[in-house]
Amino acid sequence: MIEHKPRVAVVGAGIIGAAVARQLALHGAQVWLFDRDAGAHSTSRISFGWLNAHRKREPHYHRLNVAGMAEHQVLAQQLDPHRRWHFPTGHLEYATDPDHAALIQQDVTELRDLGYPARWVDREWAQAREPWVRIPDPARAIAFFPSEGFVLPEVLNDALVDSARALGAHVPLNTAVLDVVDHGTHVSVVGTGLSTTDVDTVVICAGRWTSQLASGLGSPVPLIPADGAASAATAFQARTAPLPIEINGVVTTSVGNFRPVAGGRLVFQAHDLDTDADPGALVPARITREMQRRLAGVLRTGRHTVQIESTTVGKRALPVDGFPIAGYIDQREAVYVVATHSGVTLGPLLGRIVADEVVHGRRSPLLATFRPDRFANRTDTTPVGKALVQGGD
Ligand SMILES: Cc1cc2nc3c(=O)[nH]c(=O)nc-3n(C[C@H](O)[C@H](O)[C@H](O)COP(=O)(O)OP(=O)(O)OC[C@H]3O[C@@H](n4cnc5c(N)ncnc54)[C@H](O)[C@@H]3O)c2cc1C
Repeated sequence: MIEHKPRVAVVGAGIIGAAVARQLALHGAQVWLFDRDAGAHSTSRISFGWLNAHRKREPHYHRLNVAGMAEHQVLAQQLDPHRRWHFPTGHLEYATDPDHAALIQQDVTELRDLGYPARWVDREWAQAREPWVRIPDPARAIAFFPSEGFVLPEVLNDALVDSARALGAHVPLNTAVLDVVDHGTHVSVVGTGLSTTDVDTVVICAGRWTSQLASGLGSPVPLIPADGAASAATAFQARTAPLPIEINGVVTTSVGNFRPVAGGRLVFQAHDLDTDADPGALVPARITREMQRRLAGVLRTGRHTVQIESTTVGKRALPVDGFPIAGYIDQREAVYVVATHSGVTLGPLLGRIVADEVVHGRRSPLLATFRPDRFANRTDTTPVGKALVQGGD
């Protein structure tokens, strides 16, 4: 444990790094929060932003996500009330496809067994909740998950960075960290222009770039490459032009899921199309057409046509086994990494836990199964398939 006011550098100002930096500042550390381009290419800013522990059945991971959802409620009371980012709306899911109906059945049963709020609703209830969605009659299965919701991730990300700054963190947002050098007594963070910041601890929260930055500093941090075609780490996302309708929360259908975005738009995902998501290529026009067709089929927009304004390929920070990686990677405990999928759900909670571990040395049982040393002697780092990231994004 560090005796003087700890000096901590956080690399990466996405939702996770910003949440960690804010909590470190709250815990009395001297903090630097680096980002190379203010998050212009971060995953956080394009995230679907669904808060959930849905279809996350592994008990430790489920528990972590439930705690992550609760932490958003706490954070919503603490951040600038003029910026609305937190929408604890619940999540409506319905099936037109028999396989999807069976999956909802399994989810409701298993989630209830875990003590997670999940209930069956009838068609009238669902239609009254989402009047602009075409709920099929009869529907095969309709469920509601009241504790879920969504965030506007870019608004949350900015609010976290601003809060960290207001609490005294130094925030060089246009400084790439080129190297991290452990001198045994302190760690040097070498940034653009060869500027050097000497600190006691570095917390690497560089999203899908974390493996590279952490390389050679301790245990490996194996992530699924998000640059190739057909990677489990990539997903299409479409944004509509403004629509004259109101959607009340996250909606999952058998052809994709959507939620509101600021300005009357919707963001839409259809994971069965993601096998074609190649970040190195232009999004095929047929994908945009198909997403438009599917969304138009489930919305009641009257004479108004659903238009897709943009379709992009999102890149996940996805550990090879699908679970978070959080903890020190070196023996001296000077280099801490955090890399995870579902980082919007988990970010605020991880921020609080990581700061507590770094500043006070208190290990959280919530992270016990997610330490980086699980990869230290593992030669088989075969990536999980897309199945593990679908559903509970
Ligand atoms: C399509 C899609 C949908 C998703 N949907 C959900 C969802 O519904 N719910 C959910 O909870 N999660 C979801 N996720 C996952 C979630 O968005 C991510 O887990 C989370 O945003 C990761 O945040 P992060 O801070 O780790 O990474 P990022 O947001 O990528 O931030 C990393 C930052 O590090 C910076 N950086 C990297 N290298 C350096 C360097 N050398 N020097 C300085 N800065 C550096 C980058 O510029 C970047 O700003 C989704 C992801 C995708 C792709």
